[in-house]
Amino acid sequence: MYHLPVLKNRRTLLERGEKFISDVYFTDCNLRGRLYGDTCPLESITVFQTAKRIPYSEAVQQNFQPCKVGDSFGPTWWTCWFKIALKIPEAWKGKEVHLRWESDGEGMVWRDQEPVQGLTKEGEKTSYILTECLTENEPYSITLFVELACNGLFGAGQGSMIAAPDPNRKYTLQKAELVVFNSEVQELLTDFEMLLDIVKLLGEGEQRGYQALFTMNEMVNLCDPANPGTWSKARSLAQKFFSQKNGESQHIVHAMGHCHIDSAWLWPYEETIRKCARSWVTAVRLMEKNPEFIFTCSQAQQFQWVKDWYPGLFSQIQHFVQKGQFVPVGGTWVEMDGNLPSGESMVRQFLEGQNFFKAEFGQYCKEFWLPDTFGYSAQLPQLMQGSGISRFLTQKLSWNLVNTFPHNTFFWEGINGSLVLTHFPPGNSYEMKGRVEDLINTLKNNKDKGRANHSAVLFGFGDGGGGPTQLMLDRLQRVQDSDGLPRVHMSNPDRLFSELQADSSLLCTWSGELFLELHNGTYTTQAKIKLENRRCEALLHDIEVASCLALTQTAGFEYPTEKLQKLWRLLLLNQFHDVIPGSCIEIVVEDALEYYNEIEKTGSGLLHSACNALRTSPWLGAGSSPAFLNTLPWERTEVIALTEDGAQTKLALVKAPSVGVSPVTASAESVSTVSITELADGSVRMENGLLSAVLDNMGRLVSLILVQTNREAISDGCFGNQFVVFDDVPLYWDAWDVMDYHLQTRKPIVDVTRPVEVVSTGGLRGSVKFSLQISGKSSITQEVILDANCPYIKFKTKVDWAEAHKFLKVEFPVQVRSPNATYEIQFGHLQRPTHRNTSWDWARFEVWGHKWADLSEHGFGVALLNDCKYGYSVYQNIMTLSLLRAPKAPDANADMGQHEFTYAVMPHAGSFQEAAVIQHAYNLNFPLRLIHDVKVAQPWSAFTLNTSAVILETVKQAEGKKNALVVRLYESHGSSVSAVLSTSLSVQEAWYCDLLERPDTAHPASFTGSKISLTFKPFQIISLLLQLH
Ligand SMILES: [Zn+2]
Repeated sequence: MYHLPVLKNRRTLLERGEKFISDVYFTDCNLRGRLYGDTCPLESITVFQTAKRIPYSEAVQQNFQPCKVGDSFGPTWWTCWFKIALKIPEAWKGKEVHLRWESDGEGMVWRDQEPVQGLTKEGEKTSYILTECLTENEPYSITLFVELACNGLFGAGQGSMIAAPDPNRKYTLQKAELVVFNSEVQELLTDFEMLLDIVKLLGEGEQRGYQALFTMNEMVNLCDPANPGTWSKARSLAQKFFSQKNGESQHIVHAMGHCHIDSAWLWPYEETIRKCARSWVTAVRLMEKNPEFIFTCSQAQQFQWVKDWYPGLFSQIQHFVQKGQFVPVGGTWVEMDGNLPSGESMVRQFLEGQNFFKAEFGQYCKEFWLPDTFGYSAQLPQLMQGSGISRFLTQKLSWNLVNTFPHNTFFWEGINGSLVLTHFPPGNSYEMKGRVEDLINTLKNNKDKGRANHSAVLFGFGDGGGGPTQLMLDRLQRVQDSDGLPRVHMSNPDRLFSELQADSSLLCTWSGELFLELHNGTYTTQAKIKLENRRCEALLHDIEVASCLALTQTAGFEYPTEKLQKLWRLLLLNQFHDVIPGSCIEIVVEDALEYYNEIEKTGSGLLHSACNALRTSPWLGAGSSPAFLNTLPWERTEVIALTEDGAQTKLALVKAPSVGVSPVTASAESVSTVSITELADGSVRMENGLLSAVLDNMGRLVSLILVQTNREAISDGCFGNQFVVFDDVPLYWDAWDVMDYHLQTRKPIVDVTRPVEVVSTGGLRGSVKFSLQISGKSSITQEVILDANCPYIKFKTKVDWAEAHKFLKVEFPVQVRSPNATYEIQFGHLQRPTHRNTSWDWARFEVWGHKWADLSEHGFGVALLNDCKYGYSVYQNIMTLSLLRAPKAPDANADMGQHEFTYAVMPHAGSFQEAAVIQHAYNLNFPLRLIHDVKVAQPWSAFTLNTSAVILETVKQAEGKKNALVVRLYESHGSSVSAVLSTSLSVQEAWYCDLLERPDTAHPASFTGSKISLTFKPFQIISLLLQLH
């Protein structure tokens, strides 16, 4: 064909192409206008609405009412079941026929009692294919059901995505009809779209972009939208362009379908079950049509939901797992928060997850998959390695507000030296769309150019589910190997990581935590969830210890295996990365608190049963005295309350043996008691022989002296236990973020409504109480407690909190100078700077830690302990604990109401290791458990250790073995150390095992019948499988 050479006007050619496929302009004559052919209304459509999420079998029994396109339904969180009768016109033989469905709710098509496809406009899924080519033999009359959830892909935020949901929103059925679909037009549209993107993204500097421009222009010349006979010529021009290949060295993109589904976030857990079904059944349909399509899918809990609620779909998934198309990844129960869960909780995330994947799909996951969590503990590499995983994929550090993380592919080294091969997809997203832009970003952003020639591209709508579409697959198919763009392989995580591993000699190593410089408010938001998490972690620990003692000491005791698993799974679920961080809507908080309630209710019963069973053990009997169970692996001497009825509290000093039971007798040791002195100026002195503290009339620590060394802990002229409140208005992510500038709005709380007064006058316990006004709406009441023999002062705090966008903290300016502070993390601790030298230092103005943080110089330090808080900051010599926030989105009522929590301050001589700060923080979190009505002659201990460096964290029944225990220990000081674990239990054999409890049969532990000798490297975790007699 001859035509005039085109003029040198890039802009008109480019926009000519855009208009040719526009869905807004010129659709009367352009190609887009030809995508759909004839339409035909449905025969009938009727609806049944319900406030509940009910199964299909129940829904179809209901009374359906007539309705029509254009009608509105709802309100938010309701469900509409539509019954559709349709009849395909005979004249459409040979055509591709779709049910076209558009609504602002999330739909699921049911056919012959099974879910067959998701229909979500926001996820670009508005067509259900009835036939790709209508023949004689197909059914022409069909009845379908569409289950429509009255919420969008991202819930129902009022005004903005993360605003609290609008409970009264209505959802409209905008389109429901039969339509002839021209797939050839669709193919051409995709060609045009990809070429256009290449023109735009390669820009004017690349010759390849001009080749795309002229190809596209010539295609417009050749293609007459009204004449299908002209279309194939245009297509072959496009094919010629796309098939011009790259050189051998071109970067390789491993494209994997993915669908990030938050287990709860802007919608409740119950809706997530349906989101999984909608998204995954759609992925299965794509697999049937595209045998090369691979879909990666995480979170065992979501698989369990689908197995329970959609067994037919689950068996299809199992089929595609066997074919290698549906690839389970991650290895954990849910994609948990990477900071807040305890060490043992994280172990259980892997244990429950990996066991599920092994049982249901016959394989363990080989990679940890956590693309969307708000930071990553430095202990994770060791936990992965212990769970059969040496590879890790995430991308969230691309959200850093201050520093750009320097690697995309690297080795990540944990605090014990464990290494895992880590990949951050350079496209900085887990929900790409297979567009040219995603490929170019992947190529350009890669910070390991020349070191790693492979990258992941995860494509598919995410967060609220949705997943990949046929269009995304079609886009990627065109550019598998097209000059100027990275090569695209439909791949899986195993292939990607194997390639990266095979060529890893130039990769760098990042040591320590992956700290996210954003979302630092999530250590504090939704304080009740944090408190319940900590409490339930302790409760499940104690149930397991007590049940193991009962199992070994009491004939006939049944270890509550299934019940414990159920409770653990509830706890693990609430550790999901939008629940425990507090970034979810109010109804999710309600569900989470309900689950914690169930753990506490059922758990208390289990603990009681185990303790009760112990009453028939040889060394304990039924009687009329109280005894105490210490679940921690060291001897404790503590003041405890024998009765808990307020003013009548009866105290005793108890010496409890390591992991054992003790009668309540006066402790043999002579103890100096607590004395309280009221001073003339209204302040109060509290002393117990270890500490001497002076509190002023508003409860501030004017002085805190460590008696042993006569060392003052509080900075001259400063106040410890100083409450402060900050304005807390982030840039956008309300529940998530606290910004650096909040520090400029610090206001001390000095409005005393009830000055300090003495509550307990001394003896075993001295305490004082006072109240402060935070504002007209909020107040604090605090009891400051000093016990005999206790090296710390406890601050038992009640807050009535009714603020908006305020942040409450408490400060301790201490007489300690050190460039680093230490924070407890999972099975260990780490240090962070107390100065703001570099941007990496000051970006950590708000950090997380677990039960304690410490600031020490040589020979002296001060530790802050807590029973449910996670947010800290230590700047210079000021130690600050974050207490409460008041964000308004996505939960408008977050943290409003009453709060109770306890923190403590512990000055100490020597290092925090020597002063047993770690042990005291455990003591504060794991109270001695009272056992009523027993007769116990003398203390009995199940396990003891000969070094305080090693902590016996966990004692549990071994998975799948009735007569074996697993004990888990870790080195807590950061030292190489030898330890001997002694046990009075009747152990036959001891084996090392991994975190999945697989024994290392080549290495039996050094075991002499009652003693096991162990050696630890710093922060090493060791699990032992103990076979009982
Ligand atoms: Zn997420």
